[in-house]
Amino acid sequence: MDRRIREYTDPEYEQDIYESSGKRSKDHERRGRSRRCRRKRHFRPLILLLVLILGIGCAYFAKNSNGTSSTYDPANWNLVLVNRKHPIPKNYKVGKLVTLSDGQKVSAKIYPSLQQMFDDARATGLQLFVASGYRTQAYQQKLLDEKYDEYKNDGYSRAEAKKKAEAWVAVPGTSEHQLGLAVDINADTSVCSKDAVYDWLDQNSYKYGFIHRYPSDKTDITGVINEPWHYRYVGVEAATEIHEKGITLEEYLDET
Ligand SMILES: [Zn+2]
Repeated sequence: MDRRIREYTDPEYEQDIYESSGKRSKDHERRGRSRRCRRKRHFRPLILLLVLILGIGCAYFAKNSNGTSSTYDPANWNLVLVNRKHPIPKNYKVGKLVTLSDGQKVSAKIYPSLQQMFDDARATGLQLFVASGYRTQAYQQKLLDEKYDEYKNDGYSRAEAKKKAEAWVAVPGTSEHQLGLAVDINADTSVCSKDAVYDWLDQNSYKYGFIHRYPSDKTDITGVINEPWHYRYVGVEAATEIHEKGITLEEYLDET
């Protein structure tokens, strides 16, 4: 897009246009200079108008193709939307991280709510832990590369392996884990079943501001296969509405 704008504002390009205009007007040269000057004067505003229209068009397209990805409002940090269509906003700051007892990290902003949720789940006899919290860009890339290698080793072509890997692992820059606001929760199956943990989370996580981010019946909207373990903090108010209406974050933000 930028290239197109540059092409039209490139001095050489403008030169070309004027030259061809000059060539065309050669036939008229005999008719006098004043007419040629008038043509040039008329041509310049047309080019400026064209550049302006293209600029506005490109800006509109960029806004609508990337949605809200370029910037976000830090006051609504809990509602930042990150998915395939919405990469992590450039001005997003992860901020302070808290290291959990198993070494995983989460944003300090969600830690108290996460701890309270785990305490209350444990009080009902469940045992659960964060299997994956905050991830760096490099770590997300490593996960994607490992998945790609798995498919490649299984005999898939490079293109197929890439497609399959990206269906499982978010492309770096589009994973909620990079926000520090998402956690993959696993059950300690020596104590309780996975289903018991995921059922409890499904029914209660909203009270602590967390949502089951990728339900099985919403894959067409989220673009992610069912992940019963992936929970995302959005705050109690949004989580309650999302839970009660049975909608996704995309639907809540009207960004489907
Ligand atoms: Zn996850």
